[in-house]
Formats: sequence, C-alpha cells, structure tokens
Amino acid sequence: MHTPHADLESLYAEIVRRNSGEAEFHQAAREVLDSLGPVLAARPEFTEARLIERIAEPERQIMFRVPWVDDAGVIRVNRGFRVEFNSALGPYKGGLRFHPSVNLGIVKFLGFEQIFKNALTGLGIGGGKGGSDFDPHGRSDAEVMRFCQSFMTELHRHLGEHTDVPAGDIGVGSREIGYLFGQYRRITNRWEAGVLTGKGTGWGGSAARTEATGYGNVLFTAEMLRVRGEDLEGRQVVVSGSGNVAIYSIEKAQALGAHVVTASDSSGCVVDEKGIDAQLLKQIKEIERGRISEYAERRGGSARFVPGGSVWDVPADIALPSATQNELDAEAAKTLVRNGVKVVSEGANMPTTPGAVRILHEAGVAFGPGKAANAGGVATSALEMQQNSARHSWPFAKVEDELASIMRDIHTVCYETAERYGAPGDYVTGANIAGFERVAEAMLAQGVI
Ligand code: GLU
Repeated sequence: MHTPHADLESLYAEIVRRNSGEAEFHQAAREVLDSLGPVLAARPEFTEARLIERIAEPERQIMFRVPWVDDAGVIRVNRGFRVEFNSALGPYKGGLRFHPSVNLGIVKFLGFEQIFKNALTGLGIGGGKGGSDFDPHGRSDAEVMRFCQSFMTELHRHLGEHTDVPAGDIGVGSREIGYLFGQYRRITNRWEAGVLTGKGTGWGGSAARTEATGYGNVLFTAEMLRVRGEDLEGRQVVVSGSGNVAIYSIEKAQALGAHVVTASDSSGCVVDEKGIDAQLLKQIKEIERGRISEYAERRGGSARFVPGGSVWDVPADIALPSATQNELDAEAAKTLVRNGVKVVSEGANMPTTPGAVRILHEAGVAFGPGKAANAGGVATSALEMQQNSARHSWPFAKVEDELASIMRDIHTVCYETAERYGAPGDYVTGANIAGFERVAEAMLAQGVI
C-alpha cells in the first residue's frame, strides 16, 4: 500500500501558510513536530491517516464581540475567543485568558498545547482554550462582572459539561469564574456545576484546585530530581511571576525544604534573601491586586525590588518560570547555566523560548515542558468534574494525593517514552510523543473526523 512519507518540514510550512501571522501557534506546533519524527517512522498509519494535518486544525474556532459598559457609562468593545481544538479524548477543556495580548494566535498556541497536556493527564479531556483582550487590571469589580456577563452571554451556547468546559488562566481567577458561572446558570436555567472548573469550594469547586498547578509543577520537579538521585531539600529556587501558579509553586517548594528567593511581575522582580513570604505575596498580589514593589516595602530588610529586573539573573539550582510565554530566552538560559542551574520546569505555558530550551538541553539541565509539568491544574479540573458529576466533594488531602499520583504518572510516561524513542532524559520528546500517541490512537479509531 502507498504510505506517504512523513515530511515534517512541509507539514510545518503548511501550518505556517494556513495560520499566517500567528507566531506563538507556529512556535508551539514546531516544537511538537520536531519531536514526532521517531513515532511517525514507527507508525506509518499515523501519517497515512493525516493525523498531524488534522490535529493542527482546530475542530472549531469561535470569535465574538463582547460589548460592555464601564463605570463612567462608556460603551466598550472587546473580542472574545474560544478555540475548540480537539475532542477525541473528551470534552474540550482548557482555560480562559483575559489579557490585552490575547489574539487568535495566542489562543491557538494555548489550545494546541492543551490537547497534549490533557492527554498526558489520562483523565479523558480534550483540548481547548479561550479568552479575551480585555484587561481586568485597574477595572472595578462591577466592570469585571459586567464584562464576564457579556462574555458568557455569547459563549454559553457553545459550552456544556459534556461539550466544552472552560476554567481560568491569566487574568481569570475565582472572581471571574464566579461571575461567568452565575451568568451561565441564569441564561440556561441549569445548575450545571461541571460546565466550568475553578469554582469556589462552597459551590462545586474542588479543594486544592487553586494550588494544583503550582503544587503539581513542584511535584514534577521533585520527580525529575528523584531520577537523578536528588531532592529539593536545601535547593535554591528562582520563580518568576506572582500569580496563582507562582504563589503555590513557592509554597510547595518551601514545604519540600527548598529556599525560594524570587518572584516578579511586569514591573520587575523581588529578591528576598530570607526566602519569599508566600502569605505576604498572596495578600499583595491576589487579595489587594497590588504591585510586586509593595512586597519589598512591606517585607522589611531581607527583600529588594529590582525595577525591570529579571529573576533569571539570580543564581539558583532550580528555575520555575511561572509568568507567561517566552519569558525565559537564550540569554537568560545561558546565565542560568553559568550559575549552575540543574532543573528548569515550566509552570507557565511555553515560557521558555526554543533557543533557551536548546541551551538547557546542551548543558544537560533537566527541562520539564509545561504540557507535562503544569498539567496538575487541568488534571485537578478533571477531578473537579468527577466530583461534580457525583455531587460530591473530596477533602483537600484526597485531592492532593490524587494530584501527586497523577504528576508521578505523567513524569513516568514522559520519561519512559523518551527512553523508548532513543532520547533518554529528554522530557520534551517524551511529553510530545506520549501525548500525541494517545490523541492519535483515539482519532485513528474514531474514523475520519
Ligand atoms: N489554564 C490552565 C492550563 O493552562 C488550566 C486549564 C483548566 O483547568 O481547564 O492548563
């Protein structure tokens, strides 16, 4: 039988042509394609079935107008997105990002990553992502509520607990999920808890969902260290960001005996010789929605604020990029390597540039790609959906135990897959091939869809 040759270069060129100008999506696709050579060579039926072409094309892309009225009575218009990328393994699942940088290309890169990440969890969830170019910073609660209501008024028709289940991402936390859920419930007249995850624990949310992405990344880091015969005890850690992922990465790393010395936001970073006070950071960034400079002011002598500074300049054994895409570039990677970094693990989605990943690999640094390392968040969302369908809520310790075992399993599958395909210790290859295989098998079985 005629088996077309897997020409990854021409597949990539076609993706660029069909999605022109979407740089982040090209980057995410390139990274996955670069890993797939060995699996396509071993499984010609995947090429025959045009699986890459199909996976690279979202099942559905929704773009919509989000009109709302600000506190001064002025009408504002934002753009809303939901990219329903792949449902071979389950309902579309993935967060909503509210940030001025959001555009179709960003949502597609995130949705594409989510397909493989969700597959790695083994929990029966497909991949999707959404959001808006709305900026919640500096907006009143009432403005955020009106925006969320308008956003959901349009989006609700595409959602459902068995269809598409959003959650939070940058700019969408428990406040936004609350407003979105309220509007969904009002419009549909359904108390359908499983339609959104990241809900408050009193009304359908899961214990430990807030903590899960950061905790999960540290657990993944601990696994990467374990196979090297090491652990987190006494290690110096640098974390970027100061949102949900960063805060709970810091908390977990400290609980496992590490010394975490940094956090950051778009204005700069703080370096705290005594170790970051996660409670104070949470109070300033999550509760008061303030700036990171206030952390240094209120912490006393041990912390300094470096305006425009980079956490990657601070010597560390372990680096956990937990802010946003492409925040750790080749120069930063060189600095980290020069300073003796052993492990870099991505709390954010695609925070490390391809050039930086190359430098880390060449230097023998263990590198945990986000689609594996930060999968604890979406995995716990799937646990939230399980609890919702049983009308049950599990205690914190049970969710945390489940999370720990899921992260161990993800590490194992990435590690073993990398070894099986001749790339021992390469978690990028392991995660991409393992995630791809699960989606590809399902699509192959389900026909030309
Ligand atoms: N936004 C998170 C992620 O990047 C979580 C998505 C979810 O819980 O659905 O994986």
